[in-house]
Amino acid sequence: MFEKILIANRGEIALRVQRACRELGIRTVAVHSEADKDAKYVKLADESVCIGPAPSNLSYLSVPAVISAAEVTDAQAIHPGYGFLSENADFAERVEQSGFVFIGPRAETIRLMGDKVSAKDAMRKAGVPCVPGSDGALPDDPVEIIKTAKKIGYPVIIKAAGGGGGRGMRVVHTEAALINAVTMTKAEAQAAFGNPVVYMEKFLENPRHIEIQILADQHGNAVFLGDRDCSMQRRHQKIIEEAPAPLLNPKLRDKIGERCAEACRKIKYRGAGTFEFLYENGEFYFIEMNTRLQVEHTVTEMITGIDLVQQQIFIAAGEKLQFRQRDVELRGHAIECRINAEDPYNFIPSPGTINRFHMPGGPGVRIDTHAYGGYVVPPHYDSMIGKLITYGATREQAIARMRIALSEMYVEGIKTNIPLHADLMADAAFHLGGTSIHYLEQKLGIPSK
Ligand code: ADP
Repeated sequence: MFEKILIANRGEIALRVQRACRELGIRTVAVHSEADKDAKYVKLADESVCIGPAPSNLSYLSVPAVISAAEVTDAQAIHPGYGFLSENADFAERVEQSGFVFIGPRAETIRLMGDKVSAKDAMRKAGVPCVPGSDGALPDDPVEIIKTAKKIGYPVIIKAAGGGGGRGMRVVHTEAALINAVTMTKAEAQAAFGNPVVYMEKFLENPRHIEIQILADQHGNAVFLGDRDCSMQRRHQKIIEEAPAPLLNPKLRDKIGERCAEACRKIKYRGAGTFEFLYENGEFYFIEMNTRLQVEHTVTEMITGIDLVQQQIFIAAGEKLQFRQRDVELRGHAIECRINAEDPYNFIPSPGTINRFHMPGGPGVRIDTHAYGGYVVPPHYDSMIGKLITYGATREQAIARMRIALSEMYVEGIKTNIPLHADLMADAAFHLGGTSIHYLEQKLGIPSK
């Protein structure tokens, strides 16, 4: 087992990984930008290294800075968290070339899954159901493009192969608008991702977002750890996640979960990963795979009792999975509310000093946050300041506990989206479960793109 791990991230996930390491008796190295130098989790780490100024391209995204920090501290492995360098295949490659272990999949897997055209192709071949669409990249010939759309049926969505973060997509409703939309998406994709390749999919009108968590070791074993529903979104950003997905037939979940585990065995996947699907009319459609830990991994931990970060570490150290599929038991229900430093209704970020900070508690309440009274939320990064997670024997109990926890939580000095979460916990459609990815924007009266 490793003796020292460098955590190449910041905020709540840096603290989350640090806790997992400390429990295992592994020493930790925190890297931080100048803006994060006073953060409590930086002080709590065994060692810390400043890797640059506040802007993330000069610090958290700087491959040489992170590698040098690992060299000077003699860390053996690097945990990338989520965001930043976590899905950067070149980084994973450099880490391993420099003699460290990358806590995540092999670079070639990250590369394969990072390109949506190659990812979809690999998944189709591995037997995972995908959204009907073009076979790979769209050709240049407009006649061919029109033919493809006709075959799929309108509306269609044009998506960038290199896209991410909900960008580089365009919905097309009529043949008249098609060619222009393809040309524009290509130009945007080139500008934003340096890759003009686009592909076409059937646009699903009212899907839910349901994803499958998997774990795979380096010895050919893979299991799935149930599903999560992340349909409560705004501009493709998840706000609430829960496990298991409400109203989903467990047989259907097991079937798709087994397909995902099998796909992992086929592509020799290593580590934790998530298969993201759109789910409509009883069918699953693969959209992408995330080759890293996700923000919402906590709800899976609550219902399985499995520490996903520690599992990532065991797998990276070359150990075999400690359990088989039949040992994985899903128990109860968990909900996560992402607590963001932002205006609850117009979503404008609200960085600054947190003067007072009261955390809720009680049975079934978990909080993953790096914030505290006196903490300054820097303006340079993502606005998420923590995650409030509740667990209950039933979904109703998890919701009730969330409602109470939100009413106890108190953050003074900055705006947060706690009031929005409180509204949603009282929302009739949310209580029923199974709302689509458009529900939140419709409720808030935000026109979706
Ligand atoms: P990104 O990597 O940018 O997050 P995804 O492929 O995961 O891109 O898609 C992001 C979101 O866009 C989905 O959660 C869904 O809301 C919407 N979307 C993507 N593909 C489709 C589709 N074929 N039909 C309907 N909505 C889609």
